[in-house]
Amino acid sequence: MQYVSTRAAASAAASSSQQFSDILLGGLAVDGGLFLPASYPQVTGAELDAWRQLSYADLAYEILKKFATDIPDADLRALTAKTYTKEVYKNARKGEKASQITPLRMLEEGENGTKLMLQALSNGPTLAFKDMAMQLLGNLFEYTLTKQNAQLNIFGATSGDTGSAAEYAMRGKKGIRVFMLSPHKKMSAFQTAQMFSLQDPNIFNIAIEGVFDDAQDMVKAVSNDLPFKAQQKIGTVNSINWARVVAQVVYYFRGYLSATTSNDQKVSFTVPSGNFGNICAGHIARMMGLPIAKLVAATNENDVLDEFFRTGVYRVRKSAETYHTSSPSMDISKASNFERFIYDLVGRDGDRTRALFQKVETHGGFDLSGKPGADGDEFKQVVKYGFKSGKSTHEDRLNTIRDVADDYGIVIDTHTADGIKVARENLEPGVTMIVLETALAAKFNETILDALGEDAERPEGFENIEDLPQKFVVMPPDVEKMKAYIAANTGL
Ligand SMILES: *Cc1c(COP(=O)(O)O)cnc(C)c1O
Repeated sequence: MQYVSTRAAASAAASSSQQFSDILLGGLAVDGGLFLPASYPQVTGAELDAWRQLSYADLAYEILKKFATDIPDADLRALTAKTYTKEVYKNARKGEKASQITPLRMLEEGENGTKLMLQALSNGPTLAFKDMAMQLLGNLFEYTLTKQNAQLNIFGATSGDTGSAAEYAMRGKKGIRVFMLSPHKKMSAFQTAQMFSLQDPNIFNIAIEGVFDDAQDMVKAVSNDLPFKAQQKIGTVNSINWARVVAQVVYYFRGYLSATTSNDQKVSFTVPSGNFGNICAGHIARMMGLPIAKLVAATNENDVLDEFFRTGVYRVRKSAETYHTSSPSMDISKASNFERFIYDLVGRDGDRTRALFQKVETHGGFDLSGKPGADGDEFKQVVKYGFKSGKSTHEDRLNTIRDVADDYGIVIDTHTADGIKVARENLEPGVTMIVLETALAAKFNETILDALGEDAERPEGFENIEDLPQKFVVMPPDVEKMKAYIAANTGL
């Protein structure tokens, strides 16, 4: 399997292609594009039938095998078997089986033939769906680095979910250190405790005296010093990482196969969306031939994606126009994986894709509506790819959390609430709608208290997490001090 950049000129595509292991540890392609397979591997009906019975780990192996063709089969099987275990994904709700990894629950069967289901993706160590991919990434990184006898120092900034998922995936891994910046005293007590209670010697929590943007700016400044970056072997694990996207493809197959008994049955997915990483994996599953009817992107008040799927206009927002909401992991004004879908939408034309995303930098967006003066008319093709969208507000979240507690007896988190609100608007008779549950309620307890007047239940082991000893350093937003700190701790 060869990979190409979404911005590769037609003439360059063949010569610059790379394999899975070549792009695993990197971020963007050198031309600034994102990596995608040169063509999507296809699945047959016979494969789907056979896969229906597989465990999650075995299914992950079958799917990853199609993308990571340069990893020996036995090694890949060992990596997926080690990652997708009921011990790692142990935080299932009562009545759900941890061994299923992403258990599916029927919420409602309507009289008119509609079905609404919830697929739990948040049973991993940090109680959010990012563990689904990040845990695999940790094992893949360790495997690759050991083979190359190399080291990697992951450097990033977080306001919550991504940083903790990365730390829990990389803790104790050979050849890897994590330097994670977060805004000092700005995260919730639960999130802070989750990260700072890690005592592993390869995890460095750095609380920056400032806001998230200050931490983010530090990461950019350090990463722009290319000699330092090379010498200190600095890398990232952000959401454009291809291995993260492909690991997420697996649970769309699992959801479809668990919800159906034969491949002529139709399933749609609603996905609480921010950076478009999760739903991009759904798009890839559909392109591989998984019979997905609709892919519905649910946004919060930060509705860049909903606007595009309604109008064909992609208009990114400035930081000042990005709202802080009660579904904070979707407070995103520029969807970093969106370029992967646009590349397919414009017929895999790298020159077009490059021009459109350069226009995002210079003019803040592009317009594919086909109206006079637009940059193209490909918006009319969107329906062919099954995409729909909807938006949910704070009020909607509170109402949905209450409704779901009353109607189905379970407490959902704020991001999942955005998903259920939008899913309900997109139900169709004869089509099962699966909402992806992207976090557990315990992580966003403040809003649960507002909605229900009581605390969200915490999974076993998380009861007193705030009381555990914490390991972190506090630093000013000073780039030189940061570099010195990293160098002192890597010894490189
Ligand atoms: C990251 C995240 C999202 C958004 O996922 P994207 O891949 O960025 O679209 C939604 N919900 C939760 C809880 C998250 O952590």
